Amino acid sequence: MKQIYIETFGCQMNKADSEHMLGLLNEIDYKLTENIDKADLVIFNTCTIREAANHRFYSQLGIAGKKKKQNPDLLIGVAGCLAQDKRKWLQSNFPYVDIVFGTNNIHKLPELIQKAEAGKKTCEIEEELPFELPELPVIRQTKVTAWVNVILGCNFNCTYCIVPSVRGREKSRTPEVILKEVQRLASEGFKEVTLLGQNVTAYGYDISSNYSKEKANFGYIPEDPEYSLAKLLKYIHDIEGIERIRFLTGHPFHVTDELIDTIAELPKACEYFHIPMQSGDDTVLKRMARIYSVDKYKKMVEKIRSKIPDAAITSDFIAGFPGETQEQFLNTVKAVQEIEFDACNTAAYSPRPDTPSVMWENQISEEEKNEHLRYLNSVVNEIMEKKNKKLLNTLQEVLVEDVSQTNKNRLMGRTRKNTLVNYDVAGANCNKLMGKIVNVKITRANPWSLNGELTIAN
Ligand code: SF4
Repeated sequence: MKQIYIETFGCQMNKADSEHMLGLLNEIDYKLTENIDKADLVIFNTCTIREAANHRFYSQLGIAGKKKKQNPDLLIGVAGCLAQDKRKWLQSNFPYVDIVFGTNNIHKLPELIQKAEAGKKTCEIEEELPFELPELPVIRQTKVTAWVNVILGCNFNCTYCIVPSVRGREKSRTPEVILKEVQRLASEGFKEVTLLGQNVTAYGYDISSNYSKEKANFGYIPEDPEYSLAKLLKYIHDIEGIERIRFLTGHPFHVTDELIDTIAELPKACEYFHIPMQSGDDTVLKRMARIYSVDKYKKMVEKIRSKIPDAAITSDFIAGFPGETQEQFLNTVKAVQEIEFDACNTAAYSPRPDTPSVMWENQISEEEKNEHLRYLNSVVNEIMEKKNKKLLNTLQEVLVEDVSQTNKNRLMGRTRKNTLVNYDVAGANCNKLMGKIVNVKITRANPWSLNGELTIAN
């Protein structure tokens, strides 16, 4: 058997794609190695959302290039969003790369590898996803929780975002195919599924019979659609063995009453909403083309909290969007404080090629962006720590996901609200607890995680 070393950058969807690449490669006798020096094939599954991820990738690619000099048989492949976006540039600047393939070509990987093994460099990029989304084999890197892609692409046109141009328009998988995958996961012992999509809250609309392709630019929900995320949650809820269901990432426009009511109703649907707000200022939101106002976002939060008082609401924010004034930035800080998010991912604005905002002249200096980011992070961390401290000495329901690599008496898992919990279980058989829902008494609260002690296994 030959060995593949794969390095994945970016979001969960990329991680899910990498698991499919491993499944496809397994069929042509490649098995995963964690050691790049043992690899016959190195694949970088890239992300292009932020410049920092690109830099990390270039440096890793340089290292792989040096290894290829010592071992000319080593094959190097570049996949993912950056490959989709910059194929020609990659090929001309990194001639030692053997395979460049895009996000819509993953199913062709075995064929491309075989060509590369025969000494032929290849570049395969499809602009559009295949009409029928192919069913791909998969080798999961997790044992208890699994990601399931349910919709690919995005119909919005946020002015800073490169996703629509690299991932294309929304395309949902059919519920039949998704249910088959989740049933298989349940039979293999998985307990939790996270339904993934760049805009997962639009799931199902594009495959509903009354969907209008003409109207389906940003801000569209077909009338009375046969398929939706809420309906999908209900179907998955019936699958025996699956204990928890989550979804990532949503857009506020598509957080419908039907979705909130369904999550309130279904015991297995985690009360966890990751709904990026991006800015707490109306002018900035407008320039980002996010199609909601601060007030609308707050009303969505109120609605969620009125139906699910204990819901966790988490968000993403961009600091230093072009033209953002001090006052507009402080409006974001104010919104974060008022809404009291359970967690926020924050990033300094990163200009991406081929997006409208990269062309604007009112770019903010790196220094100011970073200063704003630091301040926003301190506000976010303070809120998260305060919220987590309220959990001290309480019992939290945790799904046991893994045993610590460094301490065999330490387990890690997540609460229903997706907070990471590490806890010691001296004397218990850790492996036996994998996949169980246990009660953990919280003994320490940090902004991003909790520590605790195991009490009883349910
Ligand atoms: S909704 Fe998300 S993925 Fe779609 S364009 Fe906006 S930021 Fe990008």
